[in-house]
Amino acid sequence: MKVDYIIVGLGLAGLAFSKELEKYGKTFIIFEDNSQNSSIVAGGMYNPVILKRFTPVWNAIEQLKVAIPFYEELEKQLNSKYHYPVNIYRIFKSVEEQNNWFIASDKPMLSEYMIPEIVHEKYFGVSAKFGFGKLKNTGRIDTKSVLENYRNYLLKRKLIHTTKFEYSELKIKEETIEYKDVKATKIIFCEGFGLKENPFFNYLPMQEAKGELLIIHAPDLNVDFLIKAAVFVLPLGNNYYKVGATFNWKDKSKIPTEEGKMELINKLETFITVPYKIIDHIAGIRPTVKDRRPLVGTHPNYKNIAILNGLGTRGVMIAPIAAKALYSHLEKGLELDSEISIARFQ
Ligand SMILES: Cc1cc2nc3c(=O)[nH]c(=O)nc-3n(C[C@H](O)[C@H](O)[C@H](O)COP(=O)(O)OP(=O)(O)OC[C@H]3O[C@@H](n4cnc5c(N)ncnc54)[C@H](O)[C@@H]3O)c2cc1C
Repeated sequence: MKVDYIIVGLGLAGLAFSKELEKYGKTFIIFEDNSQNSSIVAGGMYNPVILKRFTPVWNAIEQLKVAIPFYEELEKQLNSKYHYPVNIYRIFKSVEEQNNWFIASDKPMLSEYMIPEIVHEKYFGVSAKFGFGKLKNTGRIDTKSVLENYRNYLLKRKLIHTTKFEYSELKIKEETIEYKDVKATKIIFCEGFGLKENPFFNYLPMQEAKGELLIIHAPDLNVDFLIKAAVFVLPLGNNYYKVGATFNWKDKSKIPTEEGKMELINKLETFITVPYKIIDHIAGIRPTVKDRRPLVGTHPNYKNIAILNGLGTRGVMIAPIAAKALYSHLEKGLELDSEISIARFQ
């Protein structure tokens, strides 16, 4: 079999690169072994404001300009809904935080998202003594559905192998690469935290940032916005909510833990006062980089081998623009921004 590209991994990174290839009529085959699941379990939120300090997220406006049309195009292609606009209500802890909100919401970029008033409305089952700060133009992508549907689309077209990519089987030639019976011009590695096993790129400084989430059913809680306090409570519809997420910098497994569950419950109960039932408990590892920027570019010694990774805590926003940049770099010879290029680690 002869293709233009091999892609290893179908999380948000693999999806975004594969869509770029489809757009330009390039042929490809994907290998996916279900060893990681960050994109599947993710909250899927996009929000250009850091809610701890009320500062802008790096490059957020540029990222969203590419990301929103990207997911809307997938909705059309796969004939399903993935994009749900969701406002965010940040619970204030003090008067000082209320003041900081006002100051920040006056700043040019932030004013498009932060509403410059305090929401004092009461919501049954939510304790918010100092009120809420409301964010607009934010939302959620149903990452699980989009990835499942896209995988099925690829399966029908025989464009995906659901097996582990074995690095030792890769043969690198001058102008091509070979993997078992596949000959390709280039290979793109998009393995998320699976990068640790990749002999070509495991020199890059990726840190595990395991995150755990709960799915709860709270029949008396009726909100259609995301509540952000010690943890977030994200509405999924029909009184189901996603609650998350923990950060664990040591645990490399994607198995949910009792410790993670107790942390989520304790934090949730600092502001949710109605009964709820835990329906599910899930976990994944965010592929986070030391400098909190993505890992994009070609291998320093092999021009046919490239990487798209390091999406960290914000894969929904970053994946589409990073994939575009990588494609333009490989096919049109455009330079990568030094902030995202892996050349910064040479
Ligand atoms: C709890 C939690 C909550 C999150 N919430 C949000 C959020 O609200 N908003 C947001 O933007 N981001 C969120 N994130 C982060 C987001 O999930 C990540 O940035 C993004 O999913 C990373 O995508 P990826 O494709 O790089 O990695 P992954 O999703 O990990 O995908 C990598 C894929 O490669 C496959 N793979 C690996 N090695 C091999 C191999 N050798 N052979 C074949 N296949 C292989 C894996 O099975 C996997 O499917 C969250 C993450 C977690 C864990």
